[in-house]
Amino acid sequence: MRGLSYYPCFTFSKHQNMKRQELQVAALENGTVIDHIPSAKLFEVIGLLHLEAERSAVTIGYNLKSKKMGSKSIIKIADKFFSDDEINQLSVVAPNVTLSVIRDYEVVEKKEVRMPEELIGIVRCDNHKCITNNEPMRTRFHFLGKDRGILQCHYCNREINLSDVKLV
Ligand SMILES: [Zn+2]
Repeated sequence: MRGLSYYPCFTFSKHQNMKRQELQVAALENGTVIDHIPSAKLFEVIGLLHLEAERSAVTIGYNLKSKKMGSKSIIKIADKFFSDDEINQLSVVAPNVTLSVIRDYEVVEKKEVRMPEELIGIVRCDNHKCITNNEPMRTRFHFLGKDRGILQCHYCNREINLSDVKLV
């Protein structure tokens, strides 16, 4: 009669709700938790990490309340560990996300997104004459001064403000 022991009580106060949210994050046995995703950027983050092709369990919390951000989203991916390169690609859409690496239910590492020197195959060049819009090839952008938040196309030198970036 194993099922009988599972009768969760849903009379949570606000504080208990917060606690419960933390517990849910901690409940991942092994994998990665990506937190503080602006809700408006959730689907771009999913696309950048190719989660639509992911085979392990992906849990998404969308439009969660956040004191700092108002609204945020969280993604938990079981048994998945990203390389720094993969994580840094998020800098174009969600530079302030935090990643927790979970092993055996414990956070063993916290990672922050860093802007990479180069972005390859991620951002679209908005110059219609650019070779990357006319040949089957990957785009390539350099960061021009990380504080200014400007990307420059490697091929046509077009500069794009980070806030105007369109993904490939
Ligand atoms: Zn270009």
